[in-house]
Amino acid sequence: ELYMTRTLIAGNWKMNGLKASLQEASRIIEGLAGAHQNADCLICPPATLVMAMADLASGSALQIGGQDCHMNTSGAHTGDISAGMLCDAGATHVITGHSERRADHGEDNSCIAAKTSAALAAGLVPIICIGETLEQRERGETLEFLETQLVQSIPDACAGKPFVVAYEPVWAIGTGKTASLEQIGEVHDFIRNLLATRFAGQGEDVPILYGGSMKPSNAAEILSVSNVNGGLIGGASLNAADFLAIYAAAV
Ligand code: PEP
Repeated sequence: ELYMTRTLIAGNWKMNGLKASLQEASRIIEGLAGAHQNADCLICPPATLVMAMADLASGSALQIGGQDCHMNTSGAHTGDISAGMLCDAGATHVITGHSERRADHGEDNSCIAAKTSAALAAGLVPIICIGETLEQRERGETLEFLETQLVQSIPDACAGKPFVVAYEPVWAIGTGKTASLEQIGEVHDFIRNLLATRFAGQGEDVPILYGGSMKPSNAAEILSVSNVNGGLIGGASLNAADFLAIYAAAV
């Protein structure tokens, strides 16, 4: 059942977290031990905490991921981290193409596809992010733009390998504004159709996460939308109680 869709609740800590934050991870691990465990659970801490958090989470239901990786395996790339290094540190997943990487570091679709291929080659599950800006949505260009991002950011190397897609409307990230259930449903159905067409026999089961101001109060309704197979959570993942409440809402 390589491709069986399993809900994934993933936290993106972004540039937040010091050694002291391992306590918060411990609370998540403890909470998961008593939870339903119908869904997978992942935290993507800053790179400095990946190894310590992976050690802490070893043998638990919590998995650990990176927030970004380089497209090459090694070499003269000061400050960068390879997918193999993340794997070596205990990560199982890596986020690629987060809108903050696209905006702050000028990462384009072809760069993200290369990083995603590197992640797959290292044995990590890539979580490939796409999402439109408010201007694009207001101009009615959302689906067209997302299709281009999807086609160009997902490499053919994903065929036959586990991967995850995250729909994160840029205007909903860190703003407290969530997309409406209708908007989420429309986009997730659209992504599902594209994946099922391109990756026949696999795309039907690729988890499609929603991200953008998910919190305990809206998680259940968002997670009940068809073709929403989990969430990518920024702000609310920094607090164990909030993150566990979102996990509890997963079906
Ligand atoms: C994110 O950056 O992936 C995200 C969804 O952030 P937030 O939940 O804070 O909007």
